[in-house]
Amino acid sequence: MGYDVTASVVVGVRTTMGKLYTTFVTSGCRHNPRPSLKFCPECGEKNGIPTHDPIPGFNPYSETYKGLDVLRTDSSESDSIVVGLVVSECGSGDNRSDSGPKAIGQKTLSTIIDQVKTVISGDVISEKGDFGIWLCVYESF
Ligand SMILES: [Zn+2]
Repeated sequence: MGYDVTASVVVGVRTTMGKLYTTFVTSGCRHNPRPSLKFCPECGEKNGIPTHDPIPGFNPYSETYKGLDVLRTDSSESDSIVVGLVVSECGSGDNRSDSGPKAIGQKTLSTIIDQVKTVISGDVISEKGDFGIWLCVYESF
């Protein structure tokens, strides 16, 4: 109970959760009606149900993408995330963790930047100009 906060410094690319999923439309029954129909003419089941699948490399359970960390930028309902490596993290209350370098270890910051850029360069999740060092603050009450 109470107020908990976790702050993470992440080297990576800011993007949206939607980029980590592909969306396709499925029929709600086995008759496979034409995609333009709202309902199946044979059984009346709803047609054109949007379905979301994680893109290759993204694991929504471990919240990792090709070995990188996936973090929400804040605790709002925003779709905004950062995909990269956590270099430092600290928290309070139930979120308390050892402060200090996490991914860094013996690596230099430039090594970490190269490691992240190798994974995301030319990747579907990246948009030009959104690479950097981000502070993600997650609050819970
Ligand atoms: Zn049907």
